[in-house]
Amino acid sequence: TLAAPFVTDWLLRACDAMRDARVDLIELDRAIGDGDHGENMDRGFSAVREQLRDADAEAKSMSELLKSAAMTLMSTVGGAAGPLYGTALLNASRAADGDELDAAGTAELVAAALAGIQKRGKADRGEKTMVDAWGQAADAAREAADAGASAAEVWQAAAEGAAAGAQATVQMKATKGRASYLGERSIGHLDPGAESSRLILAAAAAAAE
Ligand code: ADP
Ligand code: MG
Ligand code: MG
Repeated sequence: TLAAPFVTDWLLRACDAMRDARVDLIELDRAIGDGDHGENMDRGFSAVREQLRDADAEAKSMSELLKSAAMTLMSTVGGAAGPLYGTALLNASRAADGDELDAAGTAELVAAALAGIQKRGKADRGEKTMVDAWGQAADAAREAADAGASAAEVWQAAAEGAAAGAQATVQMKATKGRASYLGERSIGHLDPGAESSRLILAAAAAAAE
């Protein structure tokens, strides 16, 4: 099972991933949005990194770590993605209410994050948003947990589901968010928010190993 150090490691890996993917995410968003997604995400996760450097970060529970990150992302990312990721992690913090995270708890956490994004953004699957990444991640996590996988294996499954879900956005026509203004012309491009979601779940899988 996993515990608070896993969450810290996950968040720090996500910070690194957003820094490394800054330009890629900007380019993806430039194609079908306004070109700020990489900047938004890097700014938000840099603030999360600063927060994790605080002396009291080590004493925090999984739930407290996720809640602090949620609040920080909510107030620093901006755009559409800020409130969506903020709500995702806030819901995740409620799901991670114990000292440990097992396989079933992991599947519940991913499902809770998805539910938060959908509650906030009102997007369904197939609308070319981050919901497509989180949706397949939640399905894959549930399936792995039901099949008796370990928590680390459930995170791995979630990351693979997110990658497949993100890839699937390429062929979709956007009907939510800024990319929907492009209509048919949004087809053929990877959704930036689905890509940042893929990276966040890959960070979790790496931290869980
Ligand atoms: P903005 O579009 O305000 O500039 P960002 O560029 O930071 O915000 O984020 C864009 C991403 O947000 C999109 O690629 C998409 O994945 C996600 N997104 C936008 N609207 C929604 C929504 N209603 N539901 C879920 N995700 C959304
Ligand atoms: Mg944008
Ligand atoms: Mg913007």
